[in-house]
Amino acid sequence: MIHDISMAISKDIQVYKNKEIKKPFFIDIANYSNGSVYETNMTFNLHTGTHIDFPLHIIEHGETSDSLELSDLIGEAIVIDLSKVQDGIHSCDFINYEIKENDFVLLKTKNSETDHFLFDYTYLAEDGASYLISKNIKGVGIDALGIERSQVGHPTHKVLLNNGLFIIEGLRLKGIIEGRYDFIILPLKISNVEALPARAILIDKA
Ligand SMILES: [Zn+2]
Repeated sequence: MIHDISMAISKDIQVYKNKEIKKPFFIDIANYSNGSVYETNMTFNLHTGTHIDFPLHIIEHGETSDSLELSDLIGEAIVIDLSKVQDGIHSCDFINYEIKENDFVLLKTKNSETDHFLFDYTYLAEDGASYLISKNIKGVGIDALGIERSQVGHPTHKVLLNNGLFIIEGLRLKGIIEGRYDFIILPLKISNVEALPARAILIDKA
């Protein structure tokens, strides 16, 4: 079975802290009352819905979407159910899991239980990020629009991005059972930007 773990982008999609400027905006520039075709223009923040963050997001002169390798986008994922964690996810939350080299680690939390923005969303604390780095994983994904929550200096982003890990934000993991899956994430091909919206799927192991 294939599971779509991406957010659907619409004008009502949840955005970070519900800020109006971050909401997508759609306008039909042609329609059947003024012409013979239908065409939509869309304006949106690159951190809308499910997306990948690149170092430039947090680090001045950091790498951009141009650094992406296709091999970064396919692999094995372990979904870890941390629905009971209330605030930060720490290294101790991972001790019962076998995390393998080159895994994508996807953090399922209480955030997936609602489609509204949670101001107290569960996030990855710096020591949790350091633990994942020590496991030589490929990337980490979370079902929040931020991998961290108002930590001064963005330590979680920095430690992950400085160590070449991929950050995926805005996953939807409601109903996904903890375990191992094949994982594919395909972002839009936009040059030289700090984030890319993406479609992410999990495929059950044969
Ligand atoms: Zn982002």
